[in-house]
Amino acid sequence: MSCGFDLEHYRELVEAARAGGYRFAFFDRPPEPGTVILRHDVDLSLDAALAIAELEAELGAAATYFLMTRSEFYNLDSPSGQAAVERLRDLGHRVGLHAVWPHVDRDERFDSVLAWHNPDPEFMREPVEGLVNVMEAPWADVYRSDSNQRWRQGCPHEELAAGSIERLQLLTHPEIWVYPGATMRETMLAMLDAEGRRRLEQLAADRIDLS
Ligand SMILES: [Zn+2]
Ligand SMILES: [Zn+2]
Repeated sequence: MSCGFDLEHYRELVEAARAGGYRFAFFDRPPEPGTVILRHDVDLSLDAALAIAELEAELGAAATYFLMTRSEFYNLDSPSGQAAVERLRDLGHRVGLHAVWPHVDRDERFDSVLAWHNPDPEFMREPVEGLVNVMEAPWADVYRSDSNQRWRQGCPHEELAAGSIERLQLLTHPEIWVYPGATMRETMLAMLDAEGRRRLEQLAADRIDLS
């Protein structure tokens, strides 16, 4: 099995967790042995988040999606942003706040859980009043992430399939897996191509004359 950053291997990761006997859990109670918390930080693309969300639902898995209120790349208050939150909930996923330090924009769209975007070490693990910070203990004691298409401690699919890891918080960024590319640069260029096509459709829908 090759550990590519693509939908095929994301599917294999989720299937590995199932094969290893893990249950999918959320941040609503302290992590228990035998659980995997699927966490997604949605930094760039709601479309990519929805593609992963649909795949997980098909596989019987549920995740927590951390969405930004201060993103440069998407707008949760737009019709497509509102529809994305609704669809994530309909598929059985949870929604948390992907916050930009020091702003904590709590509202009814989000469960009581926060992940900082690009956190500095000084505040990454600090408690936040009234919310679970995903990087606090015990949540992040057993943790893997796919930052910039690099697993610092290796892709966990083998350990998951073997059931050899006690529990896991698995952070993945949907755009890395949904758009093709052997490098982060290629993946981002593929995402921008898709984004450009989406923008053209939005311009037409906004009654802009593109003739
Ligand atoms: Zn792998
Ligand atoms: Zn982020």
